[in-house]
Amino acid sequence: MQRERERECVWGVTEVKEEEEKPAENGETPKENGEAAENGEPQVEPMELPPFEIITGDRIDPFMFKFQFKNVEYSSGRNKTFLCYLVDRGSADGLLRGYLEDEHSGAHAEEAFFTQCLPDYDPAVKYTITWYVSSSPCAACAAKIAELLKARKSVKLSIFAARLFEWEEPEIQAGLKTLHAAGCKLRMMKPLDFSYTWDTFVEGEEEAFNLWEDCKDNYEYYQDKLADILQ
Ligand SMILES: [Zn+2]
Repeated sequence: MQRERERECVWGVTEVKEEEEKPAENGETPKENGEAAENGEPQVEPMELPPFEIITGDRIDPFMFKFQFKNVEYSSGRNKTFLCYLVDRGSADGLLRGYLEDEHSGAHAEEAFFTQCLPDYDPAVKYTITWYVSSSPCAACAAKIAELLKARKSVKLSIFAARLFEWEEPEIQAGLKTLHAAGCKLRMMKPLDFSYTWDTFVEGEEEAFNLWEDCKDNYEYYQDKLADILQ
């Protein structure tokens, strides 16, 4: 059962270890906390956020969306992850919808989703979660998401990614395979997904959205890579 407890503590959803360093109250040590997050150690309790701010919101600025979600092969300058989410809890309350953005040096958007947007888990509720992310998860996040899905059987997660993050790296590929094996549906965003995401998550949705020229080619490029990794 010890193992189960530890799993429940993934991302500090339920507990915080005593010996863990707390983020400085004045927020003057963002780098150290960033490094801690890179190591994949749960480091914060739910109500105590790291100095790097996770931005949450209802709708994304259109210019930001076009830059961050562009499915170019090399993502220079894009050191954030944008995560748009829809959560269906099978209730009459309707869908939970919004987005998160992070800095890669701080807590990652995938982590923030579970600590900030869905901090409570009820095994009696079926959660159907869909993410549209600007890039696929890093190895540490992939491992943690897989653990969470194994521990929380009533959570179904689908991840649609605009780009594959560092897909040449063996540990990244292993992470994606682990996620896939844990029942997570992994897909690259098709041109239609970009249009849907624009309509659903971007401010001023009345503005027409023109896909960039090589959107479909880039999708097919990434889709081939992902298929190779997951086969
Ligand atoms: Zn990550």
